[in-house]
Amino acid sequence: MSAPETATPSNFIRTIIDEDLQSGRCDQVVTRFPPEPNGYLHIGHAKSICLNFGLAADYNGRCHLRFDDTNPVKEEDEYVEAIKEDVSWLGFDWGEHLYFASDYFETLYQYALKLIKAGTAYVDSQSAEEMRRNRGTLTEPGVESPHRNRSIEENLALFEQMKNGEHPDGSHILRAKIDMAAPNMNLRDPALYRILHAHHHRTGDTWCIYPMYDFAHGQEDSIEGVTYSICTLEFEDHRPLYEWFLRELEIFVPQQIEFARLNLSYTVMSKRKLLQLVTDKHVSGWDDPRMPTVSGMRRRGYPAAAIRTFCERIGVGRAASWIDLSVLEDCVREELNETACRRQAVLNPLKVTITNYDQLEELDAPNHPQRPELGSRVLPMSSELWIDRDDFMENPPPPKKYFRLGPEREVRLRNSYIIRCDEFIKDADGEIVELKCSADLDTLGKNPEGRKVKGIIHWVSAPHAQKVQVRVYDRLFDQENPDKAENYLSALNPDSLQISEALVEPSLIDAKPGETFQFERVGYFTVDSKDATDGEPVFNRTVTLRDTWAKMK
Ligand code: ATP
Ligand code: MG
Repeated sequence: MSAPETATPSNFIRTIIDEDLQSGRCDQVVTRFPPEPNGYLHIGHAKSICLNFGLAADYNGRCHLRFDDTNPVKEEDEYVEAIKEDVSWLGFDWGEHLYFASDYFETLYQYALKLIKAGTAYVDSQSAEEMRRNRGTLTEPGVESPHRNRSIEENLALFEQMKNGEHPDGSHILRAKIDMAAPNMNLRDPALYRILHAHHHRTGDTWCIYPMYDFAHGQEDSIEGVTYSICTLEFEDHRPLYEWFLRELEIFVPQQIEFARLNLSYTVMSKRKLLQLVTDKHVSGWDDPRMPTVSGMRRRGYPAAAIRTFCERIGVGRAASWIDLSVLEDCVREELNETACRRQAVLNPLKVTITNYDQLEELDAPNHPQRPELGSRVLPMSSELWIDRDDFMENPPPPKKYFRLGPEREVRLRNSYIIRCDEFIKDADGEIVELKCSADLDTLGKNPEGRKVKGIIHWVSAPHAQKVQVRVYDRLFDQENPDKAENYLSALNPDSLQISEALVEPSLIDAKPGETFQFERVGYFTVDSKDATDGEPVFNRTVTLRDTWAKMK
């Protein structure tokens, strides 16, 4: 099992495990990540993955990847493959421990028979509506089904017929016989098996009855010898039910521990909603770089290490909490600042002519200011350049506050000379269209004594510049909690994607899909892995250099 490199800070689950190991209550840490293959993984799943695989690695145990594929209607192989890819990419390895709930269908069926034979399960033939009505409320007990006292023989015969396809969907259901007056609604004779004449992505048409999630989940963990069933808080109320099943079936009882799910601002995480964003084409797919999915983040250029750091930083607790999206973006910046090679690119070009320079030079520019081991690249320089429009002001503030170009001001061109703006030219509309500058040719790679030039700006040589498409992403939702809006779709940010062009230094033309760069002073950009063709990279903005959103609010 491979694992993230850093030592993980402690949390309440570790405390429980430490005590169990010490007292001898448990001698092995076996966890699992149990996705239902009905959608792609999102950042909330990443939290669960890092937690489960991380614990197994740190305690020398193992973590299973198990697909909880008990609902044939919504599940697909496409999702299975995508989930495997995402878990691997996040840096985790389930080794030989890949399982499917559907592998246990026969065992689960036998478990159901065992309960029927013990008199603790019965076939109910009420309509769904009747069952709902008879379930009672939080303050009123439920009403027992008229079929609750069917004989064991009758139940066995009916269940057999259900299995053999002799009854239509919804006509009968197998229920546990627990207590219709239980204060915990989950114990009011919950459904165990339903009839569904549906094709299953793995078992095909073998079955037309399928176990309910609640009847499957705990038993699957038990079968696999999972010692710690770690799940989110909404399953706390299901724990008594899971334990009831395991006790009645007389099989191993894993310890269930609940933790608070991740909630991220400006994000929705319900798979139903994410699926709707995809099918209604609000985004280009599950891996649209604006999606909170693992595949979307990968395509956008978020490094796996940054997602692991994030999951570690937010910690694991039992109190519901909201994490600001900026925490995730900070983790991405921190990681990319260390690893991304620097390049020069101009998104909003203004022409500069260097009047005293009439040559073509190939400058040597380091790929990373602090990491010489990352090497350097050739940066062509000529007398015609593009700089960013924002780096010139006609009436700039005093030089102590503004370090960029203005009339008669000096700046250093990154990796090149110090230049001075001698003249600016306007068009008929009064817009500045060109700067005439002179270069101090004695300043390549050094600062002349006694002259302080604070400003450094980025640039590209105009005859060498390459035009590429850049996709500038913003938050997919412009409300902090889109789920609170009457309809979360109304919280979509209409400006979450802006397509524009950039003029980039020539070495970027060879950039490979998935490669990330820091465009100096602009942001981090990653070559799109789907839409780029050879020699025509398309760049996704991964993240800004600073948290600009905080300022805008
Ligand atoms: P649904 O059951 O509605 O389809 P889900 O988000 O529960 O959606 P699963 O595939 O069942 O999806 O989730 C797999 C695992 O990931 C579960 O153990 C679940 O607890 C965990 N998980 C899901 N969402 C989050 C979240 N936001 N934070 C932490 N863990 C999560
Ligand atoms: Mg679930």
